[in-house]
Amino acid sequence: MKTNIFLEEAQALVLDRVYPGQECYISLDDAMGRVVSQDVQAGENSPPFDKSPLDGYALQAKDTENAGQPGGVKLHVIEEVRAGYTPTKKVTSGTAIKIMTGAPLPEGADVVVKYEDVDRTGDYIKIGHTLQAGSNRIHAGEDIVKGEAVAAKGTLLTPPFIGLLASIGIADVPVFKEVKVAILSTGDELVDPAQELQPGKIFNSNLHSLRASCLKLGVQPVSFGIVPDNEAATAERITEALQETDIVITTGGVSAGDYDVVLDALHKIGANILFWKVDMKPGSPIIAAEKDNKLIIALSGNPAAAFITFDLIAVPLVKKMMGLGSQLPLKVSATFVGHFDKESPQRRFLRAQIYRQSDKNYIKLTGKQSNGILKSLLSCNALIDVPAGSGRLISGQKVSAVLIGSIDEYS
Ligand code: AMP
Ligand code: MG
Repeated sequence: MKTNIFLEEAQALVLDRVYPGQECYISLDDAMGRVVSQDVQAGENSPPFDKSPLDGYALQAKDTENAGQPGGVKLHVIEEVRAGYTPTKKVTSGTAIKIMTGAPLPEGADVVVKYEDVDRTGDYIKIGHTLQAGSNRIHAGEDIVKGEAVAAKGTLLTPPFIGLLASIGIADVPVFKEVKVAILSTGDELVDPAQELQPGKIFNSNLHSLRASCLKLGVQPVSFGIVPDNEAATAERITEALQETDIVITTGGVSAGDYDVVLDALHKIGANILFWKVDMKPGSPIIAAEKDNKLIIALSGNPAAAFITFDLIAVPLVKKMMGLGSQLPLKVSATFVGHFDKESPQRRFLRAQIYRQSDKNYIKLTGKQSNGILKSLLSCNALIDVPAGSGRLISGQKVSAVLIGSIDEYS
């Protein structure tokens, strides 16, 4: 069993052992947040035909060559075409067809003139200026050409992607199977927030924050509740979770205390322990284990530690299971603002907020950094990566950080 390893080694060890799930076809309306499992090509042009971008008259531009002269030119309006219908006549020299926004351009016409730019009397329009062929006309395939690659394998489906697929008539999309993540809390002291707090007990926050993190990622959290600090009960619940889900995340009970039973429980079920402890604060006593080709990631119970190690270790591998091409959090550098007065004999991740000012990245702490403090995660979009052996942090120094939220989220 490896112990006290670098975070990067821990990330690689688990990432090497997971793969995207099977493929399935799902309806576009259920596809938001899912990942495309094979390259998708357009079977249609979008738009499917040449059409009008405005309400006006479709005509031949060459008929307007002398329109700038006194009296302009007169054209005979021979038909009207609405959006959703097709013209029955052709535009020939001396004629025009009244056309609504989105209606197909009639054969023979090469330009559309706006309603407001003509005078209509009876079945005739008068135009007082020349028109360029091709203007005010939307071409078939202007957005997407038939045969074009519209979504590559590994693409995350976002609202515009869903719209784009709909626009070319794709009703069912090939995606990777939804990842089911088991979340289990260990600890005699835990009660669910829906229950009454008894002396010595605390509310279970990890289960709920990690569930929410799963939902934000686009995977399905499956709650396995609270299990007491008991080896057999923990082993049993982990076994159950392994049967029903693709990956198991537990919190609590991973240190070396008398009632920290998770490592023993993992041994008891015959799991292969990949590592115990990562050289970082907070959350160092994390365990990764493998059983039946599935991973169990056991995080420290301290709420901030659980949240941060989930982001740094569990999120990348869940992203890989989802089928996403890019998994590890982005690294950025920034100028530190403020002060952090502790030295860091061990590598440390500090909850911080990165923001842009005059095209430069700045980063400041978001509050108290103790393991149990959740409040400083509220406005945190990045973690400052303080190398082992660092002294205090002072304003103006360059630091590196990993992004766990969006950079402009709190700007
Ligand atoms: P442990 O990792 O079990 O040693 O727990 C470390 C600290 O985190 C203790 O103060 C626990 O009471 C607390 N803790 C453990 N699990 C949870 C949880 N699910 N929600 C909130 N606090 C927890
Ligand atoms: Mg405990």
